[in-house]
Amino acid sequence: MQILRLAVISPMRSFFDYLPPVQMAEKAVEKLQPGIRIRAPFGNRSVVCILLEVTLSTNIDKSRLKNVLEILDETPLIRRELLELCNWAASYYHHPPGEVIAAAFSSKQRRGLPVSELVDYGWTVTSLGEETIKQGKIAMRAPKQASLLNLISKSGFLGREYISNHASHSSFYALKKKKLITLEKVFPKVLSRSKKQDVALNHAQKQVLSSIKNNIDSFKCHVIEGVTGSGKTEIYLQLIHLALKQQKQVLLLIPEINLTPQTVLRVSERFDARITELHSGLTDSDRDYSWRLVSEGYSDIIIGTRSACFAPCSRLGMIIVDEEHDSSYKQQDGFRYSARDIAVKRAQIENCPIVLGSATPSLETLLNVRSDRYLHHELTERVGGASLPNLTTIDIREKALSGGLSSTLLRAIKNTIDKGEQVLLFLNRRGYATQLQCHRCGWIAECEDCDVRMTLHKKTRELRCHHCGKSARLILSCPNCGSKNLLLEGIGTQQTEEKIREAFKGTIIHRVDSDNIPNKAAMEKLMESVTQRRPCILIGTQMLAKGHHFPGVTLVGVLDADSLLFGLDFRGEERMAQLITQVSGRAGRESNKSHVLLQTHHPNHPFMQAIVDQSYSTLSKYILDDRGTRDLPPLGYLILMRADSKYQADGEHFLKSIAERANITGDVKLIGPLPSAMPRRAGKYRNQLLLHSKNRTSIHKAATKLVSIGDKITKRNKMNWFIDVDPVEIC
Ligand code: ADP
Ligand code: ZN
Ligand code: ZN
Repeated sequence: MQILRLAVISPMRSFFDYLPPVQMAEKAVEKLQPGIRIRAPFGNRSVVCILLEVTLSTNIDKSRLKNVLEILDETPLIRRELLELCNWAASYYHHPPGEVIAAAFSSKQRRGLPVSELVDYGWTVTSLGEETIKQGKIAMRAPKQASLLNLISKSGFLGREYISNHASHSSFYALKKKKLITLEKVFPKVLSRSKKQDVALNHAQKQVLSSIKNNIDSFKCHVIEGVTGSGKTEIYLQLIHLALKQQKQVLLLIPEINLTPQTVLRVSERFDARITELHSGLTDSDRDYSWRLVSEGYSDIIIGTRSACFAPCSRLGMIIVDEEHDSSYKQQDGFRYSARDIAVKRAQIENCPIVLGSATPSLETLLNVRSDRYLHHELTERVGGASLPNLTTIDIREKALSGGLSSTLLRAIKNTIDKGEQVLLFLNRRGYATQLQCHRCGWIAECEDCDVRMTLHKKTRELRCHHCGKSARLILSCPNCGSKNLLLEGIGTQQTEEKIREAFKGTIIHRVDSDNIPNKAAMEKLMESVTQRRPCILIGTQMLAKGHHFPGVTLVGVLDADSLLFGLDFRGEERMAQLITQVSGRAGRESNKSHVLLQTHHPNHPFMQAIVDQSYSTLSKYILDDRGTRDLPPLGYLILMRADSKYQADGEHFLKSIAERANITGDVKLIGPLPSAMPRRAGKYRNQLLLHSKNRTSIHKAATKLVSIGDKITKRNKMNWFIDVDPVEIC
């Protein structure tokens, strides 16, 4: 008897066995390929499933097996390699396989919709349009339309990605109305690959490139540890070129959607290849379309954020993970995977090289370098000889601060602006003030649903919770005692902006946080303005620390370096070293005199001094040794199980009974149940169990136990729970 083993696209941790469709011939069943979609009955509904294998044995009583309803695909939607990757990820992250595989599908595919013909829409110039160009009639009246018309004429055809990413719809439609261009339906074609000349690499870059080139046809994990501005991206570009020459696709992962425009621009300037973006900013239909371009091999270079590690590339030849240390690569809800780790596994399965690049590699990666699993390449100098900025602390003990700024920092800002240069101020807190308190009775504005204080947003006159998004009207008197004497504590970016605007009238000032720069278009506009190089002051959160190039910045001020110094998590030191190095790296890319000033109450703290005196590569070695003495990741392993419940007791009891039944002993320690560092968020109590071990196999065995017990316990009052393997935050 032939059995179809299926993964259901749903949060079900196991596989399901079914019988083939009624009346399907045995020969036809044999031919069914893993990766096709199948519709099967499930309870009293029907669900979309993926075929994992056709087998002859099952643990289920055969009389209870049901027939599937419908075979949805002739050929697999997911290649064998990608299916293998998903299966690996499901087992490593103890996550339902159907949901993992669904991550590799577009939304249409997940819903079981038929795979339609892949058509491309694009603009071409009409004969009237060509005539207009010849006579130069349009140019004086509408310069934007004229340049667009010329561009379409020159390229012959302008595809859909260009329309949504680079030009305004109104220009297209204005030209269409004048019958100068027309929208045509064509089949996508693989574009030609003519390109701009590669830049001549410097000696250090050449060495890295040639070493990677030597291993270009097989799996090898390369780490490029290169200081900011050392020419890593230039190496990526030349690697991409090598892959394109071999007709291979390249997957380039970036940590943040905001970095897409800059990355796409840099890549598209170099190659006349089809570049496909994959990120959360796409509509379902655009995403579906991009997905198909990638899987059917039309796109050559895929630039995407986290989830793109599952992009259905059909001829993958290389993976590049830029800023590999960035914690955004770890998904923080649902299927909690690390895109970097998945990418490495993927490269191994696809047998292609992978490059992990960063100025501040993660300790996980550095340990793999130490143990010779990954090949290490170093770039210790900036291209063109620009020196790295020098770091100094400003002792702010007992100093007056205005908007979080000391007079020393204010003077330095003034000097920089006077010289016609740019300043970047870093403060990792949005809003105006982080706390509102009654000066008479001590009442503090807290979120109703979370154990946190509300942040004051002055412009919109509201109190907002940065954890659940809840907001309330700003109050003018204490709800407890009625006093109007309310105190603001904790400086946010808005307050700093206010003070800076007062102190630097007439200077261009940009606040860069998610309130002010909500999407990638806004970021693009900001970058355009900043790269014009007029003196300006940028005030921003970690949004500013990530990968952007600000060639005119020569002074970086870190307003509250102490907030990083006393993190709750064991990763605090690593994060601080990375963040300070990355923020500093924004400065002086083209100059020899750039400075970073760190305001602190702890100028003599050994770690503060280490940050000032030592390079990241030295510092990271110490931190790694220290983790070793405590068996902490990456020299030990952690797996977290958390239960979120409406009533505190539900989650606690649930975890307690799992812990008791699992009876974890031997080389795995089980800690908890304990409340999380934020015990309540968005109205739910958060409790956790933590597994800790030096032995990877043992800890995964223990996790399997917890999960299988958890699956069997009935959950009360809408409690939900999850497991987080290699958590980036354990608090
Ligand atoms: P990173 O990615 O390490 O920050 P980039 O590759 O962006 O560094 O290089 C920094 C700057 O130096 C860029 O403007 C880049 O165009 C330029 N650059 C990189 N390599 C070279 C080279 N070999 N010759 C000239 N300019 C280079
Ligand atoms: Zn009060
Ligand atoms: Zn809240």
